[in-house]
Order: sequence, then structure tokens, then C-alpha cells
Amino acid sequence: MTVCDDAAHAFAESFGGEPDGVWCAPGRVNIIGEHVDYAGGLCLPIALPQITAAAVRRRTDGRIRMVSAGFDRVEIDPGSLLGSTRVAGWAAYVVGVVYALDPPGCEGLDIAIASNVPVGAGLSSSAALEAAVALASAELFGLPTDDVGRDRLARACVVAENDYAGAPTGGMDQQIALRGRAGHALLLDCADDTVEHVPFDPEAQGMTILVVDTRTAHRLVDGQYGDRRRAVDDAARMLGSALRDAPSVDGLEDPVLRRRARHVVTEIGRVRAAADALRAGRVQDLGPVLDASHRSLRDDFEVSCIELDTAVDAARRAGALGARMVGGGFGGSAIVLCELTRVAAIAAAVTAAAARHGFPAPGFLRAAPAGAAHRCR
Ligand code: ADP
Ligand code: MG
Repeated sequence: MTVCDDAAHAFAESFGGEPDGVWCAPGRVNIIGEHVDYAGGLCLPIALPQITAAAVRRRTDGRIRMVSAGFDRVEIDPGSLLGSTRVAGWAAYVVGVVYALDPPGCEGLDIAIASNVPVGAGLSSSAALEAAVALASAELFGLPTDDVGRDRLARACVVAENDYAGAPTGGMDQQIALRGRAGHALLLDCADDTVEHVPFDPEAQGMTILVVDTRTAHRLVDGQYGDRRRAVDDAARMLGSALRDAPSVDGLEDPVLRRRARHVVTEIGRVRAAADALRAGRVQDLGPVLDASHRSLRDDFEVSCIELDTAVDAARRAGALGARMVGGGFGGSAIVLCELTRVAAIAAAVTAAAARHGFPAPGFLRAAPAGAAHRCR
């Protein structure tokens, strides 16, 4: 059974009958361009084959009912929460999207969710959930779903994430979930959400992106994330320009602020270099760029951790072409660019290194660039 079948099945079990349709949206991994989205920089994510599916049926009584395997069933009565941001737990992502879109004619919904995106692993299960619900709402209630429409849907998903779920993230996750293209990475300009689809099909060239989930998450992450955002804002204010336009960060006196800003500026340069390599069909040239990104995140931005450093170092020693931590940091996942023939050896080496340190056994998945949110039934 596919994930979309699972969602339809869960729908029938929970609500009875058939959904009006099933829509799905992918998780993502960012190849390069980390901690630059909120600085108006560039990033280069790909959509994953792992998806979240939403089986949805319109109601006429104003209620919203939702189920998802492993999560509490939630029912929201008409009007009880409208305009309110006080929705707890996973329901906040769903009703946040519906409220942010406020689709004309929407008088309640039944929603059943199924997913194979790992939750909380830094692969953006939250945006996959939002994007599936957003596209379902758009198609059911006649909102545009062309590229401009999808940009609007993505922005509504960001509102849900920021204002309803309370996660102060940028817009990359939602943009790739709704606007990615199979066999391509999405070069996203976070200043204005313009995109370029850059051909990226590593497996056609005998290589792959291996995602390593360290299965660790450190506490205080929220505080650290806010701290880095503040540092980036402060640096831009002191330099009098957005960091992407700053010719140099040498004018920053505070050494910590200077290192934070240097990460952003050099990382944006690495995104440009990576996009150039992909446009030229030179996937292997990504390797050194990934390595440099990891060093910058570890030493200048200081958002790595021992588990991520251990995984990245072990992968490199086992013959990876390049590797780096991805996502917010302090745990979560890393990506490894390697030849397909090296996947097993690298996974074994990363697993052995984690065991030597007493860390949890990591999870692995191969990330072939997949397509964006779509209707699947
Ligand atoms: P991630 O890196 O996976 O996006 P987040 O903390 O941003 O991690 O989002 C995870 C949260 O999103 C979950 O705690 C839950 O509230 C919601 N979520 C994600 N996937 C699902 C799902 N399949 N069903 C219900 N809620 C989900
Ligand atoms: Mg998330």
C-alpha cells in the first residue's frame, strides 16, 4: 500500500465513506544554503520521495475533524477557534493552513493523514503536512494552483508554521514542498521567493545523496535558533545592508557576530558555486562545497554537535565525496554525497562510529530528488 492508500484507508476507518480526494506533499532536504533563509539568502533544497498524504472531504457544518496515525484525534467545533491562534499540538499545522488560506466556501473538513516522512528528523514533516493540506484546500475550493498560486499557498503554510504552530522558521520548506520538480534541485531566492529549477539527478551519474538521521536532538535548540537569528539581524543592521550584499564582514568588531555573519556570507557564495556545478552537470564538484559548509556551520555558526561531527567525519573517512550537517543543527540529520557503490560501506562506518561513542544507531535514507505536492487520488 502506498502512503496515499494509507490515508484513504484511515479516512474510511475514521469517518466512513470516501474522501473527496487525496493530496500528498514531500519532505525535503537542503543540499546547501543553511541558516540563510531568514537572512534573505539563497538555498538549494530537493524534495524527497518520502511524503505526507491528506485524504480530505468537505463538510457543511463548520467542524474540522482530523486523524493521523500516532497522534491524537482532534475535533474543532464551528466558530470555537476561528481567528484564534490557540490550537495545540499537530492540529495547529492543519487548522493554521486552513485559517491562513480562508478558502471561499469552506464549511469544515474531515482530514485523515498518513506519512512516511520521519517526524522531527529535520526533513520537514511539518511543511509536508502543511503543503498537503494547503493543496487539498486549494483544489477543493478553487484557489489557483499554478506557480504563482503555489507561492501563495507556501506563504500561507509559513503563516501556519510561524503564527499557529509557533515555529519561527523561514519559507524554504514550504516552497520546496509546493514548487519542487523531480530530477531537479530548487534554487530559491529567499528575498523574494523566486525560483530556478536546476537539473540534479545524482543517481544517473552513479552517485547519491545519503541522509543520515543521527536520531539525536539537543535541548535549548529553540533558544539557540532565536539567538542565531538575532545575531544575523544585528550584523546586517551594523553593516547597513543585507548580508548577501555585504562586501565584507570585517567591519564587525564583535568576533562572535563577525563569525556568524561570515557563515551567512560564505554560505550564500557556496550556494552559487553549487548551482553552477549542477548547471554544468558536475555533481561531484558539490563534495568540497558540502565539506566547507559543514566547517562553517561547525566553527563559525556553531550549530553542529558531536553526533553530527562524528557522522560527517566517519562518512568522509569511508570515502564520501562530501558531507555536512543539515537543518537547524544541534542534532537531526546530515547529508553525504557519495558514489552508489560506497553507500553500504559508508553507512556501516557511520553506524560503527556512533556505536563507539555510545550514540543512538543512525537511520539512513537515499534522497533522489522527487516532485512537489500533487493530487494522488
Ligand atoms: P520536522 O523537522 O519533521 O518538520 P517539526 O518539529 O518542525 O519537525 O515538525 C514536527 C511536528 O509536525 C510534529 O510534532 C507534529 O506536530 C507535526 N507533524 C508532522 N508530521 C505529522 C503527521 N504525519 N501527522 C501529524 N502531525 C505531524
Ligand atoms: Mg519542521
